[in-house]
Amino acid sequence: MTDPIEEIIVHAHREHRVYLLEHECKAILRHIGVPTTSCLVAQSEEEAVKMSEAIGYPVVLKILSPEVVHKSDAGGVKLNLGRGEVRGAYNEFIAKFQDRHVVGVSVQEMAKPGLEVIVGVTRDAAFGPVLMFGLGGVFVEVLKDVSFRVIPVTEGDVQEMMEEIRGYELLHGYRGQAADLASLRDILLKVSELVTAYPAIREVDLNPVFAYPEGSLVVDARMLLENAPPQSPPTLGGRFEAAPQTDLSAVFEPQSVAVVGANTTPGRVGFNIVDNLLRLGYAGEVYPVNPKADEILGRKAYPAVDQIPHPVDMAVIATPAKVVVDVMRDCARKGIKAAVIVSSGFAEGSEEGRQLQDEVITIAREAGIRVLGPNTTGVLNGEHRFTSSFLPIPINNLRSGNVAFIAQTGLFLGVLFEHIVSSQHFGISKVVGLGNKADVDDADILEYLAGDAPTQVIAMYIEGLRDGRRFLNVAREVTREKPIVVLKSGITEAGAEAALSHTASLAGRAEVFDAACKQAGISRVHSFEEMLDVVKAFSFLPPGPPGLGGTGGGNRVAIVHYTGAACVLAADACQREGLELAEF
Ligand code: ADP
Ligand code: MG
Repeated sequence: MTDPIEEIIVHAHREHRVYLLEHECKAILRHIGVPTTSCLVAQSEEEAVKMSEAIGYPVVLKILSPEVVHKSDAGGVKLNLGRGEVRGAYNEFIAKFQDRHVVGVSVQEMAKPGLEVIVGVTRDAAFGPVLMFGLGGVFVEVLKDVSFRVIPVTEGDVQEMMEEIRGYELLHGYRGQAADLASLRDILLKVSELVTAYPAIREVDLNPVFAYPEGSLVVDARMLLENAPPQSPPTLGGRFEAAPQTDLSAVFEPQSVAVVGANTTPGRVGFNIVDNLLRLGYAGEVYPVNPKADEILGRKAYPAVDQIPHPVDMAVIATPAKVVVDVMRDCARKGIKAAVIVSSGFAEGSEEGRQLQDEVITIAREAGIRVLGPNTTGVLNGEHRFTSSFLPIPINNLRSGNVAFIAQTGLFLGVLFEHIVSSQHFGISKVVGLGNKADVDDADILEYLAGDAPTQVIAMYIEGLRDGRRFLNVAREVTREKPIVVLKSGITEAGAEAALSHTASLAGRAEVFDAACKQAGISRVHSFEEMLDVVKAFSFLPPGPPGLGGTGGGNRVAIVHYTGAACVLAADACQREGLELAEF
């Protein structure tokens, strides 16, 4: 084997270690061109002295043991040793750590003091490897002044990471002690490339890195390996053998729809779905399915989907959960292309529900049927006058327009929808409730909307993402053309479980999600009200050059209002946000 990094990893695995020792980490870093203090390892007193002579005094001795993770806490770091102090220090270590497995003693030069920074990598359940940067010592311990980006990062990303920390002023220039930002950028980029090339490296902690006016130096390093050879992050799709059909047009623009569980009683779910379609003036065919009815709302009813003697593109399924498996089999036989499962009682409720859901999706995948839900109101298509919602849609105020909503809640096709269409002046192109996201998820819909001409603004309500990486990649493409506005709930959720590295303990889900949004060019909002305001602004702004998320060419604003006070308040707000008042 010729790759020294691979060799170090394999060697650790062979010793059943997931924790790489300081000298191993430094060997890896030096190999990728990151400067570090020496990675010499002494096995005897004589060797320690010889190495010290070669390095030049003063030197630093550190214990190297897979059982000592935090070396200075355990009394395993001796700094600033002069000639004549090395033997004593070496022997003291050997005595102190005699009942630990000691690999040797690290001998390294005493680095001249610099500004201490920390560079780290951890893994996020949804986004995979994440890069961290911060000022070391008290800044990271007490103030948690750190920034994150999802790996791989660009040069622009790492520049932003540095500028984002509150202590940036210290780095940038504090009484002439500026740190060499280019050398820090270089370390961040190289660490990002390292973990991309070697997925076996799970966590990295370079703590501290000394930053100087010229150059930077890694003084201590830790790395953690994956327990087993790494696998690609789990996606729900991975559990099913068949790959999903990628065309989602049948979800939004079906030519014909079967409503399974259609009902003759006004107010019931199965009644409302048919009623909405008829009131909206949906131009396609509507086939109610109910074995106990002959006719529903004037339409002939059929006992099962596969007994409808006409082509059917989509099924809206509103039966009790336990019969959905059978209904999906009928749909597969009929050759339909998409289904919205309105029914609840699946993965959101219990383990049995989860199994039932998997069974349904397996059938759908094999038949090439895309599924929205379960546990959702589904879709509304403004131009096509199509909906799967069971909540009465107020058709009088419904305006088709350029705004699409994607939400992990049915609210946007329920109460909130009524509020939006009655109080807002923008029009709606599509609304999607994702429900349990058993098949179709946020990223799938984003991909569809990217190519949907009427949609110019995309608003999303997100609770959690399963495959954050795919979401980030798709969103990054979409925001070049169309702005994405995201409201995320659950941001107070605690971070990863206790971990060996600083980086892992600091990387809460919220921080990582924030970072991903910045990388994707997403506009964040923090309430429904703010979402509607921002969406409205985007909806009426002229589309702008690529990269500006359609925000128009400039930052000048005209204010029109019938009171002076409102004009002054608006002018103040513009100034706060860096917008200019236009000259008339
Ligand atoms: P650990 O983090 O395992 O306790 P470190 O190797 O980070 O051990 O050492 C503790 C501290 O000692 C560092 O934060 C740094 O301030 C200082 N230090 C360690 N190695 C050197 C060195 N070679 N030159 C100068 N200072 C050092
Ligand atoms: Mg350290």
